[in-house]
Amino acid sequence: MIKNFFKTFLLYELVKGMALTGRYFFARKITVQFPEEKTPQSFRFRGLHAQRRYANGEERCIGCKLCEAVCPALAINIEIAEREDGTRRTTRYDIDLLKCIFCGFCEESCPVDAIVETRVLEYHGEKRSDLYYTKTMLLAMGDKHEAQIAKDRAADAKYR
Ligand code: SF4
Ligand code: SF4
Repeated sequence: MIKNFFKTFLLYELVKGMALTGRYFFARKITVQFPEEKTPQSFRFRGLHAQRRYANGEERCIGCKLCEAVCPALAINIEIAEREDGTRRTTRYDIDLLKCIFCGFCEESCPVDAIVETRVLEYHGEKRSDLYYTKTMLLAMGDKHEAQIAKDRAADAKYR
């Protein structure tokens, strides 16, 4: 009882709180000043999607539709056709990013490493259709980021 009286009288709780504030005031700051500063990213980071090509320029995707089947958000739409040489390729490969939940199931299911998720996280759309990625857009993403994608896939393979 007396102890509590002196604690209240001497503003003990307030002093304790101020001491804690003071300690953090002079401590090293860990706030990241995004976007000028960035936190490290994992090689398994699941950002914007891309479609990859082989070194000879041929697109990897064989239109097996596994990614479409596994996608829990029903965000992928694929149409396929057979080419003159008998191989099968997609005539349409769209991902609706407004539906996508970035679970990574599509890239996990792909037998030829065609659909992948890149490290790109800074993108936006001013209208709904801007976030509807077509095959052309996905291939362009793949072409642009292939070096980083290949490096990340190689790093990932070491842990499998
Ligand atoms: S990341 Fe997941 S939700 Fe998005 S397209 Fe791939 S499977 Fe579908
Ligand atoms: S991206 Fe991969 S899983 Fe999807 S249709 Fe093409 S080959 Fe099949």
